[in-house]
Amino acid sequence: MRQLLWDHGWYRHATHQPSPNFGPRPAGASIDLLVVHSISLPPGQYGGPEVLQLFANTLDWDAHPYFQQIRGLEVSSHFLIRRDGSLWQFVSCDDRAWHAGASCWRERSNCNDDSIGVELEGLEGETFEPAQYQALAELGEAIRLQYPLAHVAGHEHIAPGRKLDPGPGFDWARLQQLTHWPRAWFPPEVAV
Ligand SMILES: [Zn+2]
Repeated sequence: MRQLLWDHGWYRHATHQPSPNFGPRPAGASIDLLVVHSISLPPGQYGGPEVLQLFANTLDWDAHPYFQQIRGLEVSSHFLIRRDGSLWQFVSCDDRAWHAGASCWRERSNCNDDSIGVELEGLEGETFEPAQYQALAELGEAIRLQYPLAHVAGHEHIAPGRKLDPGPGFDWARLQQLTHWPRAWFPPEVAV
């Protein structure tokens, strides 16, 4: 089953757009954490190509005033789930994507080393679409078949005080209901 789902860390049911922003994971990394993010460029505007361009290092920094704040940023995520539930992948899950930054969770720092990052197209404080929860749950279950998943957290949890995504509009209980993942996998501060 899982051989049908994955090819060297690439999920077969995603559209692949390889990003140059990645590196090797540390030897022996146990990939047991799923990090949920939200992103939209410009913030609050959905459906455009800008997030894909950001991860490809092709975003035109002069195209919008907000982009001055992130000019030169080189980042990536393993996945992006758009508002319609469509799924994109930028980095093999076997490799280290650049989504978490300075972070700590389950008493391990530098979460990029041993996590998988999923960006939901959205904005902190706003809600997310049913199709996004469905896609996230299906992706999460596919990850669980291939990697020793045992934790899920938001960027706001692994980088408190620095990051706010996905924010209070993300319904953790809904993700738990769709996946049936154990309560202990979730951050203690969220209601599931
Ligand atoms: Zn984030």
